[in-house]
Amino acid sequence: MGDSSRLLLAAKFAARMHHGQFRKGADAEPYIVHPLEVARLLSTVGGVLDPDVLIAAILHDTIEDTDTTESDISEMFGSRVCSIVVEVTDDKSLPKERRKELQEEHAPHLSHEAKQLKMCDKISNISDILENPPKDWPLERMIEYVDWGERVFAGLRGANEDLERHFDELVERARRELGA
Ligand code: ZN
Repeated sequence: MGDSSRLLLAAKFAARMHHGQFRKGADAEPYIVHPLEVARLLSTVGGVLDPDVLIAAILHDTIEDTDTTESDISEMFGSRVCSIVVEVTDDKSLPKERRKELQEEHAPHLSHEAKQLKMCDKISNISDILENPPKDWPLERMIEYVDWGERVFAGLRGANEDLERHFDELVERARRELGA
């Protein structure tokens, strides 16, 4: 299968798996917009053209948040895509606070590909918080989220200068807008 066909198959598969899920922002966008945005940032801002990495970006939340298994992904998209997705998948059996700590601990040990994907995940999530905040989040929770995002991101640095610059500008704007 050609690269474009694999990419589009991943988009269709992820859209179907995330069906009925919504982003936590006040306008409750369909969840699939987020993984597509992560792949777009990788390619447009990060200059990442490797189709396996873009496919992994589209699929990055499927194991964590849907019924998708590792074998589904490795059978459809190959073991390299699968291993990148697994690297960025949180262990949902752990409490949320522990999962957040582990993201900080694991970041420096991720592969180069997974680091770049994770950078775009953090960029997408923080810009969503700014553009379209969840309606029940007080300001201090938004500030805490940006602080945590920065700590995770610190462990990813060195993997892609363009994404780092984009992140730094976003956080600067976030701090200005949130008054933090
Ligand atoms: Zn994500």
